[in-house]
Amino acid sequence: FGAIIKEESQMKQMDITQYKDVWVFAEQRDGQLMDVAAELLGEGRRLAEEVGCELSAVLLGEDVRDLTDELFAYGADKVYISEGEHLKQYTTDGYTKVLSKMVEEYKPEIVLFGATHIGRDLAPRVAARVDTGLTADCTKLEIDPEEKGLMQTRPAFGGNIMATIICPKHRPQMATVRPGVMERAEKSGKREDQELIEFKNDVTEEDIRIKILDVVKAGKASVNIVDSEVIVSGGRGLEKPEGFELLQTLADKLGGVVGASRAAVESEWIDHDHQVGQTGKTVRPELYIACGISGAIQHIAGMQGAKTIVAINKNPDAPIFKIADIGIVGDVYEVLPKLIDALEK
Ligand code: FAD
Repeated sequence: FGAIIKEESQMKQMDITQYKDVWVFAEQRDGQLMDVAAELLGEGRRLAEEVGCELSAVLLGEDVRDLTDELFAYGADKVYISEGEHLKQYTTDGYTKVLSKMVEEYKPEIVLFGATHIGRDLAPRVAARVDTGLTADCTKLEIDPEEKGLMQTRPAFGGNIMATIICPKHRPQMATVRPGVMERAEKSGKREDQELIEFKNDVTEEDIRIKILDVVKAGKASVNIVDSEVIVSGGRGLEKPEGFELLQTLADKLGGVVGASRAAVESEWIDHDHQVGQTGKTVRPELYIACGISGAIQHIAGMQGAKTIVAINKNPDAPIFKIADIGIVGDVYEVLPKLIDALEK
């Protein structure tokens, strides 16, 4: 399930007792910390408390020192920083070289990355260099109370089962974690005992086999469903693209945005930026209203963290009702206009 598959016998024997602390790779782009860094620090703090160890953030880049205050504010006990002109842009070679050396020198017990484009590229390379395993795309992390090992859960077999994976004989235990799944760390004031550790790197131009000629930014997504407090989501049960206009009216009344199931996106009723679920976005709004959505495991994987789930479905046995806080059995085209009417009044 990880990106690295090696026979146990091919991997080095290691003394795992030397490894301690939880590390979070603090991803930044253009000097801006990615949201996933705050999420991993939130989750990392919880794990560090259970293990009884420190939480550290690792920051690579050029002129990124300003970000260390933010990482301390998110609760990192230590921040390891390595800077240089060859770390300005992310490159697989440059970042792998520095991070693997840091891991070899400081021996963290757990290293977490966001399952972003960069995290998915970097984590398997580092895991291979330091001869350990990696669980990709985790949605849940827990500490095994007896072994104190990391239990890493991720969807497997097309999302039909959740597999829990452990790394019993090698360290660090490494995982990439889906953005949006873990709760962000709260910001707090700087503490006396927080420590900044500088790591000198020797990355040269020759180390980097891929030259970045130009960076072209992707067009802005048409909607930001990840940060919205209210999402009104529609599925195949809407039966036609016009159904989303009704959803938009309700979303506007509630100050929210419109989401969708993959079935609705694949029917080309709405753009992929709106898709919630395993192959869409993971969302944690205050309120999620699922309209004509059956509640397939791949959809639920992306929205089960919502505070309040309301489901409208004409089938009383639809699986979505199992996770809904409020279930309305009925036709969306009868229920939604009444809801909008009531809100207008
Ligand atoms: P359906 O399952 O067809 O459900 C429609 C629901 O609408 C039914 O429950 C029906 O009772 C109800 N209904 C019908 N008419 C009305 C009406 N008039 N009023 C009220 N209710 C009505 N899916 C995602 O959503 N997101 C993902 O990211 C995702 N990733 C996937 C990844 C993989 C690898 C795979 C294999 C699948 C993935 N899927 C994903 C697809 C998922 O398995 C389901 O097929 C999909 O979620 C179903 O969408 P739906 O609930 O809109 O449609």
